[in-house]
Amino acid sequence: MSKNKSSESVKVVVRCRPMNEKERAAKFERVVSVDVKLGQIIVRNPREASASELPKIFTFDSVYDWNSKQIDLYDETFRPLVDSVLFGFNGTIFAYGQTGTGKTYTMEGVRNDPERRGVIPNSFEHIFTHISRSQNQQYLVRASYLEIYQEEIRDLLSKDQVRRLELREKPDTGVYVKDLLSFVTKSVQEIERVMNVGNQNRSVGSTNMNEHSSRSHAIFVITVECSELGVDGENHIRVGKLNLVDLAGSERQTKTGAKGERLKEATKINLSLSALGNVISALVDGRSSHIPYRDSKLTRLLQDSLGGNARTVMVANIGPASYNVEETLTTLRYSNRAKNIKNKPRINEDPKDALLRGFQEEIARLKEQLQKRSGKKKRRGQRRRAGEGSDSDDVEEGETEDDDEDGDYWREQQEKLEGERKAIMDDHSLVAEERVRLLKEKEKKMEDLRREREAGEMLAAKVKAMESKLLVGGKNIVDHTNEQQRMLELKRQEIAEQKRREREMQQQVESRDEETLELKETYSSLQQEVDIKTKKLKKLFAKLQAVKAEIHDIQEAHINDRQDLEQTQNELTRDLKLKHLIIENFIPLEEKNKIVNRAYFDDEDEYWKMKPITRIEDDHQMMTRPLSAVGYRRPLSHHARMAMMMRPDMRYKAENIIMLDMDLPARTTKEYQEPVIAPKVAAALEDALRDEDEIQVDASGFHSSLGPSPSASASGSLKKPKSGRPRTGKKSSTPTSPFSPASPGSPLYPQSRGLVPK
Ligand code: ADP
Ligand code: MG
Repeated sequence: MSKNKSSESVKVVVRCRPMNEKERAAKFERVVSVDVKLGQIIVRNPREASASELPKIFTFDSVYDWNSKQIDLYDETFRPLVDSVLFGFNGTIFAYGQTGTGKTYTMEGVRNDPERRGVIPNSFEHIFTHISRSQNQQYLVRASYLEIYQEEIRDLLSKDQVRRLELREKPDTGVYVKDLLSFVTKSVQEIERVMNVGNQNRSVGSTNMNEHSSRSHAIFVITVECSELGVDGENHIRVGKLNLVDLAGSERQTKTGAKGERLKEATKINLSLSALGNVISALVDGRSSHIPYRDSKLTRLLQDSLGGNARTVMVANIGPASYNVEETLTTLRYSNRAKNIKNKPRINEDPKDALLRGFQEEIARLKEQLQKRSGKKKRRGQRRRAGEGSDSDDVEEGETEDDDEDGDYWREQQEKLEGERKAIMDDHSLVAEERVRLLKEKEKKMEDLRREREAGEMLAAKVKAMESKLLVGGKNIVDHTNEQQRMLELKRQEIAEQKRREREMQQQVESRDEETLELKETYSSLQQEVDIKTKKLKKLFAKLQAVKAEIHDIQEAHINDRQDLEQTQNELTRDLKLKHLIIENFIPLEEKNKIVNRAYFDDEDEYWKMKPITRIEDDHQMMTRPLSAVGYRRPLSHHARMAMMMRPDMRYKAENIIMLDMDLPARTTKEYQEPVIAPKVAAALEDALRDEDEIQVDASGFHSSLGPSPSASASGSLKKPKSGRPRTGKKSSTPTSPFSPASPGSPLYPQSRGLVPK
C-alpha cells in the first residue's frame, strides 16, 4: 500500500437477511433475489397489477445473500479496510437500513458465537493479531463508544450517563467530541470489555431497547497509533482511526398527528439520517459547492468519512419479504447514490494529536528521573563502601542494574542504620538526653530512607504501567497462531480478492457486450438484419421502460419527501406564529427590545444565548467588582474598613445597621368548634354509619338517593364512601334541600357540598 493521495469511491455492499420465523409462518413472498457473481440485487414488484412490470436491478461492489457468513463479509469487504487503518488511514463502516434487517447483526453479531461474530469483534481479533506479528513497531490502541440520540451525544463509556457532550472543531485536527473518554486497551479481552460496558450503558438509559436502538446512532471508535523508525532514522507515528457506525433505522418516521414536543421529537429523531442523505446527494451532485455537513451531529462528526480523508464502506441491509419492498427499494436507491462519493484517503503521519508521542516522551522522562535517583543512590553507596575515594565514572549505566542488587542496597542501608541505632542504645557513656536526640536522628534517617525507596518504587511502577500500554509484536501478546493458520488466512484473502476481480470482470464484460454487439455483427440477409434489430430494439425498449419506471419512482419518493417537509414546515410556522402572537400581545415592546438586544448566537454551541444583564450597557467597569470591594457587598475605602474594625461605628456599617426582633402579627383566627348536634340526629347518624361495609350499591336507585342524607343511606340503596369530611351531618338537618329524598325527581347535575349556606 503506497501513500495514496488519489481519490477512491465509497464502497457499497448490500446484504439481504434471511426470512425470519414470522415471515415464513405468514408465508410472505420473497421479492428480492441476489446475484452474488454479478453483484446485483433484483427486486420484483409484488403487486399483482404490476406483474408485467420489469424487476428493478441494482449493481453494487458486492452483494451478500441470506446464506452469507459473517467471516466472508469480513474477509472480502472489511478486512482490507481494517488493514489500511492499521497502516494509518482513517476508515469508516456504516450499517444502513430499515430496522430489523441486520445492521446490528452485521456490526456486532452474536457475541459469544465465533461463527456469528460481527465486524466489530472480528476487527478486535484482527487488530491485535496484526500487532502481535509486527516487528520493530510500537502500538497504542484505544477505544471510545458514543451514541447520538435526538441530536444529543452521549458517552457510552462514561459513568455519568446524563451528561451530553458537545462537538468542537480545531483547525488542525478537525471536528471532535469534547470530553469523550477513550480507553487504552492492551488485548482483545480488554477492548471487548469496553464494548460490553458501552452496550450495557446503551440499554440502561432506555425503557424500550428496540425502539431506542432503532432511533439512535451508535459509533464505536478504535484509534490505532503505530510508531516505527523511518528511513530518516527518526521515529514516525501513523494514526489510523476506525469508525464503526450502527445507524438508526432508515424507515420513515411517521410525523402525522404529532404536535408540539412530539413533533419536534419526530423531526429530530431522523435529522441525522436525512442530513446524511442530503450530504450524499450534495456530494454526488457535483454541482453544489456547499455540502451541508453542519446540519447534523452525525454528518459533522463523520465529515471525513464522506468525501474526505477516509476509506468508507457502507453496508446496506435489506429484508427479502414482499411487505418490505418499499423500504428495500428506498435503501437500495439511497446506497446506490452513495457509490459515487469520492474520498481522498491519505496516511496520517505524525499528526498533532497522537497520544503515542506523549507516552513515549513521558516514559523517557520518568526513566531519566529513575536513572538519576539510582545514580545518586549508587554514588552514595560507592562513596560509603570505598571510603571517601573519588569515583562516579561508571554511574551512568545505572539503568541496567537488576532488582536484586537494588534490594541489597536498601537492605544494607537499613541494616547499617539499625546497627547504629543499637550502638547508641548500648552506649552507656551517653547522657540520656543526648541518646534520645541521637536515636531520633537515626529514626528520622531511616524514615527518609524508607520514603526515598518508596518514591523510587512508585516511579518504577509508573514507568512499567505506561510501558505496558504500548504494545510491541511478539511480546505483549502471545501469538497463538502458527504458520499454518497464517497461511490459511493469506489464502482466504487471496480467494476473496480473486472473487472480487472476477465479479468486476463479469460486470465489465456484461456492459461491454451490449455496446459492442452491434458493431461486430454482419448480416447475411435483410430479413436477418430486421430480426436482430427488432430483438435489440425490444431489449432497448425494455431498458427504456425500466429507466422510466425508475424515474417515476424517484419522483414519487421526492414528492413524498416534499410533502413531509412541507408538513413539518407548516407545523413549525404555526408554532412560530403563536409565539409571535404571544410576544406581540403580552410582552411590552420595551422588554422585548431588551431581550432582543441581549440575545446572541453562539457559534460554538450553535445555539441562541442571552448575555448577562448589566445595568449600564456600555460601562465595562460596572461589569467587574472594584478591587476595594473584595468580600464586601459594596465598595469600601481603606479608611472605612479600618474604622469598622476599630469601633462599632454606624457610619461605616454597610448593612444591618439596626438589629430588631421580629414582630409577630396579632392572631385573627379562632379555634375550631364542633357544631352542636341534637341527640336525635346524632343517633340517626351513628346508626347510618355503623354497617357501612355491608352496604350494597344499587345504581337503579341512584336518582333518588343522590344526597348523602342519612335516611337514604339507611335504606341501603347507596352510601357515599367514608370521606375525610367531619360527620356533622349538616345536610341532614336541612330536609328542604333539593336533593333530599323528599324530592326524588331532583336534577342530577353536580351540587355544592353544602358548606356554603344557601
Ligand atoms: P437491526 O439492527 O437492523 O434493527 P438486527 O441486527 O437486530 O437488525 O437483526 C434483526 C434480527 O434478524 C436479529 O434477530 C438477527 O439475529 C437476525 N438477522 C439479521 N441478519 C441476519 C443474517 N444475515 N443471518 C441470520 N440472522 C440475521
Ligand atoms: Mg440494531
